[in-house]
Amino acid sequence: MAKKQFKAESKRLLDLMINSIYTHKEIFLREIISNASDAIDKLTYKALSEGGAALDRSALQITLIPDEAARTLTVRDNGVGMTKEELEQNLGTIAKSGSLQFKKDMAQAEGIPESDTDIIGQFGVGFYSAFMVADTVTVTSRAWGSDEAWRWESSGADGYTLTSCEKADVGTEIVMKLKPDADEEDYSQYLKTYTLERLVKKYSDYIHYPIKMEVEHS
Ligand code: ADP
Ligand code: MG
Repeated sequence: MAKKQFKAESKRLLDLMINSIYTHKEIFLREIISNASDAIDKLTYKALSEGGAALDRSALQITLIPDEAARTLTVRDNGVGMTKEELEQNLGTIAKSGSLQFKKDMAQAEGIPESDTDIIGQFGVGFYSAFMVADTVTVTSRAWGSDEAWRWESSGADGYTLTSCEKADVGTEIVMKLKPDADEEDYSQYLKTYTLERLVKKYSDYIHYPIKMEVEHS
């Protein structure tokens, strides 16, 4: 299938993430979890403002699924999900949201050297940080109010694919295929429940939805 190209700004950010020499790669989990939490917030808001079927608030949660055999870490949420257009818009053209420019401006205003790593460390860069630890990222999503699901997949800056797929529930699932371990980089640690628990405690303690762990025994 033909690959779609990232917008120029996004491609730069993505390149930066893929080739990151940043030492705090572990913050990717914070970014992915915070997006999951935002998505649940949005669902709650939509359900409230648009009425319709009542929302079972007790079921709202974020699930981490490490799978050692597949070497994947999955983060699943039952938030608002994304339509095909939203997947394309939000994940294909991230920097357009102004967040990268905003981060640069902030860094400058604060007198922080405008090196890439400082920007990452100070402000986070969102979704693309998954590419600091993963060589392929697959996002499967079904938007609230829709019965179709779409899969966005990318292995880097050369583009992404969007394909129609099945998904039983509304929400988003992000599968990160972890990079191979290297001399100084232990990506396998993100498959260990104790590492994940430590990172959740360190960075995502403020999240007000349950963060559960589901260990895959394949
Ligand atoms: P930010 O969170 O600052 O907007 P991100 O790079 O973290 O930027 O995410 C980009 C966008 O992708 C989000 O604004 C959101 O619209 C969408 N997104 C990312 N993850 C999810 C998710 N789990 N569910 C729904 N939308 C998501
Ligand atoms: Mg975010």
